[in-house]
Amino acid sequence: RAKEMGKNTYAVFSDEMNNGVHQKLHLESDLREALALNQFIVHYQPQIDIETGTAFGVEALVRWQKPDGTLVSPAQFIPVAEETGLISQLDMWVLETSCRAGKIWHDLQLDLRVSVNFSTRLLHQNDIVERVVEILKRTGFSADRLTIEITETTLMHDVTRSLRTIKALREHGISFSLDDFGTGYSSLSYLRTLPIQTLKVDRSFIKDLGTNTPDAASLVKSIIGLATNLGLDVVAEGVETLEQQEFLMKHNCFKIQGYYYAPPLPEKDALIWIQHFLNKDLKNDSPQDAV
Ligand code: C2E
Ligand code: MG
Ligand code: MG
Ligand code: MG
Repeated sequence: RAKEMGKNTYAVFSDEMNNGVHQKLHLESDLREALALNQFIVHYQPQIDIETGTAFGVEALVRWQKPDGTLVSPAQFIPVAEETGLISQLDMWVLETSCRAGKIWHDLQLDLRVSVNFSTRLLHQNDIVERVVEILKRTGFSADRLTIEITETTLMHDVTRSLRTIKALREHGISFSLDDFGTGYSSLSYLRTLPIQTLKVDRSFIKDLGTNTPDAASLVKSIIGLATNLGLDVVAEGVETLEQQEFLMKHNCFKIQGYYYAPPLPEKDALIWIQHFLNKDLKNDSPQDAV
């Protein structure tokens, strides 16, 4: 029956049908089934340090691969997964899968961090610290290569609790990054006391760089300045053009993630991409090349 309904079910992704209770119910059972049938896959988007010319990490991004091979974007199912509570199970699976991949890359001598997105629900789960530590143990991935990305909304949902959890995970060596920075509401005074390491400039601001939107440029400059003053790293997401990259470099943001370099890629392709990128760079830097 679920199969029969398949076509209608996916119609939930069209805008007009977004809030239909019926469609949502079908999507929920589809999500459960997808989890049970292992239909989720993780893609990895390389993160580049243009100053050193290396790939310093990847961000793990989940996709739903339907039996016919089509990929459903997380923007379309994460909200339902959040509402129904399935998100915690999904996020934990993404974490474990990414840690496995990270361990493989580490064993190949690649110096890569892995960033994973955590939903509000997951960060605020009672046993989250134990569960994360358990996954690190099971996969053999080192905590100091793991970054957890949370949003301002997740953080502000319960600041006291967020702080406690983040600190506990920090003690195990895990880093934190504030995702989509600038789109949510977070108090600057909290930001100062937070044990986070990185701000990620939201794609919406990067998109408008190099256009005639003067606000975008000053916003991006302010975020970079804020991060620098607070001693935080800053990563720009959604960089698609050389122009955007040049603006970022000019304003001292050297960590870039975006289609300009690479889209999110399946594990094997991500590895090939990164090895190719490193080799290319080695060649460029090699004094032997000058001969
Ligand atoms: P995000 O964490 O801000 O991830 C960055 C998004 O920007 C990704 O979209 C990525 O594919 C996209 N992106 C990166 N560079 C470019 C670019 O140059 N141009 C354009 N147009 N897009 C770019 P994606 O993969 O569709 O994910 C959307 C959002 O879904 C993520 O935003 C994140 O909030 C959420 N998400 C993805 N995977 C997970 C997950 O495993 N768990 C949770 N809780 N949320 C996830
Ligand atoms: Mg993210
Ligand atoms: Mg982001
Ligand atoms: Mg984003």
